[in-house]
Formats: sequence, C-alpha cells, structure tokens
Amino acid sequence: MHEFKVINGKLFCEKIEVELLARRFGTPLYVYSYQTLVDHFTKLKSAFRSVDPLICYSVKANSNLAILKVLVDRGAGLDIVSGGELFRALQAGCPAERIVYASVGKTDVEIQEAIRHGILCFNVESGPELENINRIAKKLNKIVKVALRLNPDIEPKTHKYITTGKLTNKFGIDLKSAYDALLLSNQYSHIDIAGLHIHIGSQITESSPFVAAIKKIIKFIDELKKAGIILKYLNIGGGLGIVYDGEKPQTAVKYASKVLPLLKKTGLKIIMEPGRFIVGNAGILVAKVLYIKSTPKKKFVIVDAGMNDLIRPALYSAYHNIIPLKAAARGKEVVDVVGPICESGDFLAKGRLLPKLKEGDYIAVMSAGAYGFSMSSNYNSRRKAQEVMVVKDESYVIRRRDAYEDLIHNEEIPLFLYGL
Ligand SMILES: *Cc1c(COP(=O)(O)O)cnc(C)c1O
Repeated sequence: MHEFKVINGKLFCEKIEVELLARRFGTPLYVYSYQTLVDHFTKLKSAFRSVDPLICYSVKANSNLAILKVLVDRGAGLDIVSGGELFRALQAGCPAERIVYASVGKTDVEIQEAIRHGILCFNVESGPELENINRIAKKLNKIVKVALRLNPDIEPKTHKYITTGKLTNKFGIDLKSAYDALLLSNQYSHIDIAGLHIHIGSQITESSPFVAAIKKIIKFIDELKKAGIILKYLNIGGGLGIVYDGEKPQTAVKYASKVLPLLKKTGLKIIMEPGRFIVGNAGILVAKVLYIKSTPKKKFVIVDAGMNDLIRPALYSAYHNIIPLKAAARGKEVVDVVGPICESGDFLAKGRLLPKLKEGDYIAVMSAGAYGFSMSSNYNSRRKAQEVMVVKDESYVIRRRDAYEDLIHNEEIPLFLYGL
C-alpha cells in the first residue's frame, strides 16, 4: 500500500495534489510520503514482533537525513556501507549501538572512525578484512564486535546486477573459510565474532531463496555449536522485493510466516536490513514534458528528468510505472520517455503505452523512493533534483535543488593555467 492515489483523474500524495508541488517547487522533483514510509517500517516491525528484531534500515536505498530520522525515531537502526553513510547516520541522530557496517572495501580510516564511535558491529566480508579490523582495534585498544558475512551460494532469482549471495559475487565469505576463521577466532585478540550475516540480493519477490539461505545458515550454526562456538546475532540482511509492475512480492506477514519459525529455532538476536521494502514505494519522481518528438520510427516524450536523476532503467533495465499527474481524454500511444542527457541509455521507459502527453504536462515515475535520488549524479552538469516530504496536507523541503555553484564547489583552476 502507498499514499499515492489518483482521485478524480489527479495524482495525490497523501492530501496534496502532486501537480501543485511540481508547480511550486519545480521539476525534476522527488516527492515522498511520510505516512507510507512509517507504514512500511511498522508493517515489518509488527510482522516480526515475536522476535523483536533490530531493523537496520539500509541507508544506501535512500540516504536523505529526514528519511533516516523518521525511521531512527521509530527505533530503527541503520545499515551502512561507507564512512559517508556513518556520517549521515550520526547526523540523523542514530545511536551508534544501532549501526551495522557492511562493505567489501572498508578503508583503515573508515574502520577507525566506526570503532571510535562504537558501532554495534562490522559485517566482515573477507579474511584479510578480519585481520585488518583486529589490527586497528588493537591499536585503539578496543574489543570490536563483528559478524561474518556468509556467502550461502544461493540464486535469489533477481536481476544479475543485484544478486549478492552467489559464490561468483564479490560479497561475503564461503562457509568453509568462515568455519575455519571461527575455529581460529581466539587468534584475533581484539575481535569478538558475535554473529553471522547474510544478504543474498535485492528485489527478491519470493520467500524461497530467503528460506533456502537461512536453512543453510542454521545448519552451519548447528555445526558451530558442536564445535563449541556460541554466537549472539543473526543478521538476515534485506532484499525484500516491492511492486514496480505486475510483481506479486511476498508481504511482510508472508515473509515473516516463512522465516520466523526458522529464526526462532536459533535463539539468536535477529537483525534485518531492509532498504527498498521501506522506502521504494514511498517516493516518486516528478518530471515535466519538454517536447514531443516524432521520428520516422518512433515517438519520444522528452522530459526534464534524466538518467542522472534515476539511473535504474539504464542500469538494470528496471521498469517504473509512469502516469500523467492529470488525466486527459486524448487516447493512448506507444512512446519512449527519455531525458535530456547526451546518452542513448538516458530513458525512463521504452515502447510504453501511455495516455497521450503534450508539452507542459507533468508525469510521475512511480516507485522511485529506493535507489533513485541516492544513485543520482551531476552528470551533464545537471543539478541534483529537489526532494520534498509530504505529511498529510503539508509539504517540507528535505533537500534543496543544487545551485550552479554546487556543481563547481570543490574545483580549482591552478594559477599556472592563467600564466601566473
Ligand atoms: C543494499 C543492502 C541491503 C538492502 O537491500 P534492499 O534490497 O534495499 O532491501 C541490505 N544489506 C546489505 C548488506 C546491502 O548491501
């Protein structure tokens, strides 16, 4: 469910007509529904309440401070993947003991900062990383909690760019190597291997890959128990799919009903890391039609949002539903919806049957809340979009549109180029 609804032919976000927001703030514009955000978080929390998990929202899905604060204030922890995300998490007021840190390439500086702030745990992705964290922790005279990120070698049935739990992916540690590391864990004087972590991919619409992965891990935990190794945490990652097109993804309740019996058996504290599930359908991207261009082969609707604003169609051939903000009785036609960027990959939809649009119309690209703004760039020196959050009949700017000055903020022209 989400709070973007067409009422009498007009798209509303909660109680505000989206076209009013487009006119007031300009386009391209990301619009988020506060209620939807809270609703998705609450759904997951209540579906899993019998194990009272720590839900660490995955910051990379949408890292806006206001969005982080909404979730942190409701008890969420945060799943981070860089020093920059640690900075954001702390800026949003997340207590460090609710932060978990994954990434195959944590630098020494990033590890040091995370240790200094006292995060809950590192999700460690390799043997060399384990050694490095131990070395740095020793220097700082701290004992650091880590979870080993296991690669369960599971096919999650999703786009190949977003599978992360196969042995051909760069993520995690194979079970054999993890077992060896755990047996030798007293070698790591400044590390407490307190848990296990998996994250098998993203936009997974069925429960079966999750169940298969968790079953593998439970077997592994049993083997560890036999060897006298007792853990505290099990982090089952994120990856829950949402509706973009005609998918019928498992609901939070369905997902919980499949995995809860398994999780309870472990007796471990459960951590989870949903990103897309929480924020994906809580945001849309609004764009304005600049030109309608007909070529001998095609009709293009050229809009003022491009792949720099939303790269998912170009990167993953992702489908986003597109709807006009206002219905008009002009019939339908098949078009490509494209942006202004100088790349043929710059499209939002291809060969799409849409209500006939004309210059000046506005469109909404639906389900753009996750991996939308957070993957946006300044390519073509385009200013990053503005973001607003709607709460009932109020709207709040949560990120101003870039100014031109922001584009050159860190650049310098050396004096010698002026002949000085
Ligand atoms: C990206 C990521 C997530 C979130 O994935 P979603 O598909 O958005 O739920 C969770 N955990 C890790 C380690 C990730 O890299």
